[in-house]
Amino acid sequence: MARALTLDRYWSKVEVCGPDECWPWTGGTKAQGYGIFFVQHSRWKGKRWVGAHVFAYILATKEDVPDRRDPPHYGVLHRCNNPPCCNARHLYLGTAVQNSADMLAAGRDVGKRRLTAQDYDDILARTEAGDRIKDVAEAYGVNASHVSNIKAGRGRRPPK
Ligand SMILES: [Zn+2]
Repeated sequence: MARALTLDRYWSKVEVCGPDECWPWTGGTKAQGYGIFFVQHSRWKGKRWVGAHVFAYILATKEDVPDRRDPPHYGVLHRCNNPPCCNARHLYLGTAVQNSADMLAAGRDVGKRRLTAQDYDDILARTEAGDRIKDVAEAYGVNASHVSNIKAGRGRRPPK
């Protein structure tokens, strides 16, 4: 895990607001307003820059995040469309499948989708991160009961 000093330094750069509000990053940023944070973390060998929102997501969920060089492409997405935001409740691990699921949820297609294995993992991660079952179900175009089954470990993970 990250060392206490690192955590202190991290949170000193986040403007922590209400639980449902955006928590803007006040440190350095990259293109498009994504915060960047220099960190030494047992997850990575040595020190490196990570996206501030990616670090927030890792702290909140202890999930592994795909290791890519460019913060906007880490796969951690903002539900609030606010790049500097570091409120883990506004973040989720996104994929190409995820993005199309979000578009489905936006209302173009009301049919129920078949979930992929990646969807299944993402749903599990989001419910564990504290997302509401109703919100997750909407995002993936499935019934809430399906999401609660996955959360409870009763769902069947689809084959790859
Ligand atoms: Zn936000």
